[in-house]
Amino acid sequence: MNQAETAVMQQAFTRAGYQIVGFGKPADLVVVNTCTVTAKGDTETSKIINKIMHINANTKIALVGCQAQTQKEKLLALPGVHWVVGNAVKLELPAIIKEHLHETLLLTPPIPRTLFTMPSAEADDRHTRANLKIQDGCDFYCSYCEIPYARGHSRSREFDDIRQEAETLVRAGHQELILTGVNVGTYNDNGRTLADVVRSLEMIPGLLRIRISSFEATTFPVEMLPFMANDHKLCRFMHISLQSGCDKILKLMNRKYTTDEYAEFLLLAHRTVNNICLGTDVIVGFPGETDDDFIVTRNYLQELPFTYFHVFSYSDRPNSKSRNLPNKVTPAKIRDRSQILRELSRQKRAHYLHNQVGRIEKVLFEQKKNGWWHGVTDTFIKVKVESSGHLHNRCLPVRLEQVSDQAMLGSLSTNEDE
Ligand code: SF4
Repeated sequence: MNQAETAVMQQAFTRAGYQIVGFGKPADLVVVNTCTVTAKGDTETSKIINKIMHINANTKIALVGCQAQTQKEKLLALPGVHWVVGNAVKLELPAIIKEHLHETLLLTPPIPRTLFTMPSAEADDRHTRANLKIQDGCDFYCSYCEIPYARGHSRSREFDDIRQEAETLVRAGHQELILTGVNVGTYNDNGRTLADVVRSLEMIPGLLRIRISSFEATTFPVEMLPFMANDHKLCRFMHISLQSGCDKILKLMNRKYTTDEYAEFLLLAHRTVNNICLGTDVIVGFPGETDDDFIVTRNYLQELPFTYFHVFSYSDRPNSKSRNLPNKVTPAKIRDRSQILRELSRQKRAHYLHNQVGRIEKVLFEQKKNGWWHGVTDTFIKVKVESSGHLHNRCLPVRLEQVSDQAMLGSLSTNEDE
């Protein structure tokens, strides 16, 4: 979602007459769109500021986004930081800077909980597949999570505003749109749901793929499963946050499902959508997670048909309820458990990829690196092919031939080199 919002901010600065340069180049002004979902996100902000100051000690820095919203005073004290601007107003940053060019500013007004509109990114120069924000905020209050404090209550983007931005992005050449939000399954504009958004976007000529970035298991409109199964534009891909495979820990996390309910949904998706890619997030080392609880999670992940998982190390966040829970897990144990799950994820992905050998899948190509064109399938397999043609932003059938690390090597099944 930060990427979607960064693209919008970039457009706003361009319209205001700024020249955008890549990160690491000398600049008069640097905008850092911060993340605070883990302690690592916070550390990253300090590291980036040090890098920026190293390149040019006279740069003025604007810190915006989630960490800016929750840790404002602390951030304003960092070297080079002139403006700290929260989530409610960050998209108006060029105007805010113009008005407060010669003063430091801390601006983090409360975030309204109403439907919203936002300016269009028009085109996302840095991505072939464009992010499209449809929702923000969350009311679930999982006990470890800082997001409801950083992004406020759940609220949805106006239906017609989404459609308009989607059309603009497609006109600009984007053929895949990734629907993003904090909790996209809770999308609701006067009764219109995520399924309605997808149905509406499917009608846009020139749009080939719609991908849902990630969602909560209890929120997915199941009527959308046949969309994925029956060659619609909706990608055969689901990233369904799990966080723990142990019911005791899920309860402490204040998650809204049991492991049985989650498994039932996952297996339904797996049965309904042929060859679907199923990913998830897991947190290791939540307070109170014993060795036995961890093994329960590992076995759960092992047994279910996941393709991969992202593993996060638990860290206390400033507003999270879990910071007050007893029985904290030691960093050494968190490291060991992460490593075990990352290895399991590698094995699971390798297994999924081996099952793809011999298939012909459409690949949307993004860039050429070291002589190979890189792209992705709708099932989110990274594919590399050798070709002397110019394949950028083309969606072409590829025969998947060989697994190479966490990606696949393939060959074009049409002759694009001629
Ligand atoms: S669902 Fe839970 S983890 Fe996800 S943003 Fe909301 S509170 Fe955070």
